[in-house]
Amino acid sequence: MLYTLKDAGHEAYMVGGGVRDLLAGIPPKDFDIATSAHPEEVRKLFRSCRLVGRRFLIAHVRMGDEILEVTTFRGPITDSHERDETGRILSDNVYGTLETDAFRRDFTINALYYDIRDFSIVDFAGGMQDLQRRELRLIGDPELRYREDPVRMLRAVRIANKLKFHIEAASATPIRHLAALLREIPPARLFEEVLKLFLSREAVANLEGLRRHGLFSHLLPLTDEALDAEEPSVTALIRRALENTAQRIEADLAVTPAFLFAAMLWPAYAKRIEHLERKQGHAPPVAQAQAADEVIAHQQLRIAIPKRFSIPMREIWALQPRFENRRGARAKRLLAHPRFRAAYDFLLLRGQAGEPGAAELAAWWTEAQSGSLPPLPQEAPPPAEQGDGEGAPAKKRRRRGGRRRRKPGGGAADGLQP
Ligand code: ATP
Ligand code: MG
Repeated sequence: MLYTLKDAGHEAYMVGGGVRDLLAGIPPKDFDIATSAHPEEVRKLFRSCRLVGRRFLIAHVRMGDEILEVTTFRGPITDSHERDETGRILSDNVYGTLETDAFRRDFTINALYYDIRDFSIVDFAGGMQDLQRRELRLIGDPELRYREDPVRMLRAVRIANKLKFHIEAASATPIRHLAALLREIPPARLFEEVLKLFLSREAVANLEGLRRHGLFSHLLPLTDEALDAEEPSVTALIRRALENTAQRIEADLAVTPAFLFAAMLWPAYAKRIEHLERKQGHAPPVAQAQAADEVIAHQQLRIAIPKRFSIPMREIWALQPRFENRRGARAKRLLAHPRFRAAYDFLLLRGQAGEPGAAELAAWWTEAQSGSLPPLPQEAPPPAEQGDGEGAPAKKRRRRGGRRRRKPGGGAADGLQP
């Protein structure tokens, strides 16, 4: 791509994470290109090219199964840039030169340009030195640069952990008192950033970094509160969820935001159910549905979780009490549920985190998947009966044949506290 752009008479460099990671000795995730060519000119040169972005047009060019981002050199920040009252830049559509582009980038190590004409690195901002010192440093005045775009605070934590670099003091110090600026960021953009932070090998370190810098409470306030309580099973559940995610990524297995958010918000959800049952006297199924609504609505104020993830997340939650019901037909129905696997993984996680009874239950369901249903434990009174309401004899609980309907206000079979 660089040669195509060059042969068409444009300047073109590889820049950003691709150059940085290669120089730091880790495999790059993607490659970004900076060029003097305008988006329309880029489009003419590459067949599979799409222009994206509202404020600043970026060309996405497909190469095999990779998508490369091609950005036209940005112009300098001037007074004519539209800003909001906190200093955040709202409009951005002036093109510039290689040099102006360099100073618009966030960290010095992200502003290294690889030049195919002589295989050199162009470094206007001192990135090579910072790379050697293993330091992450914002270009220019840190406070101003964070105000221009508060997401840079999240990027600082994420990139430092990815490279095992240190955030240089002048770039680290202002974060705490500017953290609340994250509230100005559109929730859809924060969703993307949160995925980069947590669907990552460094998920645990990212959580710790975000908490240390006071950023996490602006992303997942309910989770932040839950962690503040220093309840060992809560901390363990979230940590385990992030560790499992990291291991899955390491092993090249699929990871889903639904599972991640289900875990992150589980403590708040469980607490809310308890409140609704104890203090407001709601029946378990009602409390569960309402708690899910409330917790999700609260979270959506900060991070826009798309429906395709929030719906399965709710299902993972809703299936948890149904694991308690281990009798014949009911157990078989649960095994056949399309969301069984994710819900079962979640039950395993609860077991690993030391939630009372969850590990034993998970073991039963592990066995249940290998063919016939294992025997039910004899000694302990089966907890599954509690939620079945009205002390009805177990045999009579279910109408024959048809699907069990959930009756509002009690009587539903799966009304157990998570
Ligand atoms: P990775 O791709 O590994 O997550 P990256 O640094 O390449 O890290 P991208 O989002 O791909 O991250 O951005 C590519 C480059 O664009 C960055 O290296 C940086 O030069 C520039 N950039 C990205 N986001 C910002 C920002 N918020 N402010 C200024 N420059 C940015
Ligand atoms: Mg990149």
